[in-house]
Amino acid sequence: MPGRSIRQFTVLPCLPDRLRPLQTLAYNLWWCWNADAVALFRRVNPDLFEALDHSPIRLLGATDQSRFEQLVEDDGFLAHMDRVAAALDHYLKAPTWFQETHAAEADTRIAYFSAEFGIHESVPVYSGGLGVLAGDHLKSASDLGIPLVGVSLMYREGYFRQYLNVDGWQQERYPENDFFTLPLVLERDAAGKPVTVSVQLPGRELALRVWHIQVGRVALYLLDANIPENAVADRSITAQLYGGDLHTRIQQEIVLGVGGIRALRALGKMPTVCHMNEGHAAFTGLERIRLLMEEHGLDFATAFEAVKAGTCFTTHTPVPAGNDAFPMPMIEQYLGEYMGKMGVDRAALAALGRQHPGNEQEPFGMTVLALHLANTSNGVSKLHGSVSRRMWKDLWPELPAAEVPITSITNGVHTQSWLAPEVAQLYDRYLGIQWEERPTDFAIWKRVEHIPDGELWRTHERGRERLVAMARARLKAQLKRRGSPPSEVDAADEVLDPDALTVGFARRFATYKRGDLVFRNFERLVSLVGSKDRPIQFIFAGKAHPQDRGGKELIQRVVQQSRKPEFRKRVVFIEDYDMNVARHLVQGVDVWLNNPRRPLEASGTSGMKICGNGGLNLSILDGWWVEGYDGDNGWAIGAGEEYTDLAYQDEVESRALLDLIEQDIVPTFYKRDAGGLPREWIRRMKRSIMSLVPVFNTNRMVEQYTERCYVPSARRAAKLSGDHLTGAKELAGWRRRVQADWHQVQVASVDAPTSELMKVGGSFPIKVRVGLGPFKPDEVEVQLCYGVLDAMGELAEPKTLPLSANGAVASDGTVFTGEVPCRASGHFGFSVRVLPRHTNLPNLFEPGLVTWG
Ligand SMILES: *Cc1c(COP(=O)(O)O)cnc(C)c1O
Repeated sequence: MPGRSIRQFTVLPCLPDRLRPLQTLAYNLWWCWNADAVALFRRVNPDLFEALDHSPIRLLGATDQSRFEQLVEDDGFLAHMDRVAAALDHYLKAPTWFQETHAAEADTRIAYFSAEFGIHESVPVYSGGLGVLAGDHLKSASDLGIPLVGVSLMYREGYFRQYLNVDGWQQERYPENDFFTLPLVLERDAAGKPVTVSVQLPGRELALRVWHIQVGRVALYLLDANIPENAVADRSITAQLYGGDLHTRIQQEIVLGVGGIRALRALGKMPTVCHMNEGHAAFTGLERIRLLMEEHGLDFATAFEAVKAGTCFTTHTPVPAGNDAFPMPMIEQYLGEYMGKMGVDRAALAALGRQHPGNEQEPFGMTVLALHLANTSNGVSKLHGSVSRRMWKDLWPELPAAEVPITSITNGVHTQSWLAPEVAQLYDRYLGIQWEERPTDFAIWKRVEHIPDGELWRTHERGRERLVAMARARLKAQLKRRGSPPSEVDAADEVLDPDALTVGFARRFATYKRGDLVFRNFERLVSLVGSKDRPIQFIFAGKAHPQDRGGKELIQRVVQQSRKPEFRKRVVFIEDYDMNVARHLVQGVDVWLNNPRRPLEASGTSGMKICGNGGLNLSILDGWWVEGYDGDNGWAIGAGEEYTDLAYQDEVESRALLDLIEQDIVPTFYKRDAGGLPREWIRRMKRSIMSLVPVFNTNRMVEQYTERCYVPSARRAAKLSGDHLTGAKELAGWRRRVQADWHQVQVASVDAPTSELMKVGGSFPIKVRVGLGPFKPDEVEVQLCYGVLDAMGELAEPKTLPLSANGAVASDGTVFTGEVPCRASGHFGFSVRVLPRHTNLPNLFEPGLVTWG
């Protein structure tokens, strides 16, 4: 309301001094993955804690003074609190994996940029899988002591909250976050003034302040445009996650990328390596280039090399439309002037964001920009890596898809965050407490064999009971809100059976994930669900993007099914899927269902969350499950087929799904011994835990990022930046030269034995003459690619053998020689190729230049 001045004030809970540690704990999200800390807050007031999204800060704010006075007198509570406080203290001081393994890299500073972070349901700045992965990345980075900070936006409204109307149609609401009840601390300068940075938007500057959330050892910085310095409309730029139009999106990405770097700089935390989690963050690279140019008086090409060497990129989206792209005029409107000052004209700018720079129809892609700016790029599962190489191969037109330099690091989950507390205790007892610190150690998880079947089963059943209780309570609340008659509300107490085989399906409702696939064979499903002695039941949850009609229709179909009399008690849709609902689901289901159209699920992580809790996966061989499934630790629907006839695919796969349920899953689950235990089922639970938990966790994942991306990038960046960026200047000059003159490189001749028959174990010599043009022998790598020929006469899985220059130069070129080993029998082929080589490049393929013989 204009003219009215609202004075703000904050009432802090008046915590008695003796209870101060509660406040310290509440402001470090370490508490959320430590069961003893969660139990401590629950103990303050269980109902309130439940009602307030498990937010310790809101809990402390809403607790009566009299309750605090009681707690001060409660020796049991005080001892519990002191124990938890000491555990946090110990955690923060203990030596870490990074210190022990990478002591030489102590100066490295990594910044991890992501549009969303899912750390806990009480901090609603995430929408789904990407954010939860980013949150789990931070937690593991903290566990491992990686010198990393997170950067994102502080959304005033976050992602939408879902509820359904009477027709089962998704409705969205955007409640405002109350910043004072979030674990946020405003970053201030030495004089106590809020740190403020700004970014240029068309015709104005946008001012941003910076919030800080502490996640164990790791800091997460969040940028916020909602401050009085900005025009009213601009204050909403950071209001909603994935809300608004394309303009909002590009503005948010400028805030994240450009603003994020400026914020880190203002805080004195300029990174040496930036990790862009998805293309949203790709503008970070441009701002780092600009700063380097300004500080060192460099040209764009030189600064580009130095920044690229210190940049890592992870792509997440095998669906082309899921990759952010902006029309070129919009890019010019927002970035034309900014880039112009760096000497980058329209054509050069377009070339950074297009696969085919001259194609005026092609929008400016953020994934393309990120691929250009990064020196390591990866997908999030092996299959997704290979899909990504094919998807982006036009950026490296000379290379075979298999050698496009996009690798893969398979996603994981932060094991401790997703385990039911009683399961964690069981592991403490039978595995020893080291599983927390070394979740990647197979030997530790092998001890699961020693857990008595009965104990594991009863522990798992408690998770199922909690899930059923939660589902009933939520269903009741949903019905009440919709104004259903009391009889119907009361009937919610009767839905689901805490002893029945329980299947969970929760994920974003997008058409390719086929949330309604199981309902395709109505009669068969009715007989499974309606079985008197061996019933199966389903719990669904998930949001559709507000603009995704198809996704909303899917939800509606599932909800309509759940209301049919045949399914009413056995199929439930829980509204407003979030990390709390996810935790209940993954801790309580027996089977986790995943039936996307392969290969559109890049990785998927929810299926990993159930493993430690004793659930079993039933999934299409897509994403991580291609790597996880070993024939005995869950079920695969199909054998990894891909179809062009989608209706036919749905028919085949829905049938295969019901076959598995009918013929294997239900009989195994209900086959009980005299003591009532499903021994074979429990055996599979143990197989699943032992084979999957040590692999599909974020500690393994973050270690791989550290060793394959962060550390090598830090070293390359340091090499290029040292001595006033001599290395970067040299590399930029080399790249210019190679791009201009590479066409002069020719394979003149190849000499190999003419006999077509070779003996296994032998070898044959090969001699190649290469016309190098202006290049020296050590500036190229001459390779032999050889291997078994497939039916098409192509090399199926080529091996490469570098040939060496033997000093001889013939009239038509420099001589390179080598010995080709014949290690196996079969029909082999080979070819020769030449690639440019430079010691400061991450790999031979990055420049995308190759000459074939
Ligand atoms: C884990 C999780 C996801 C991601 O699961 P997918 O298997 O990738 O679909 C999404 N939303 C929430 C709330 C989660 O906890």
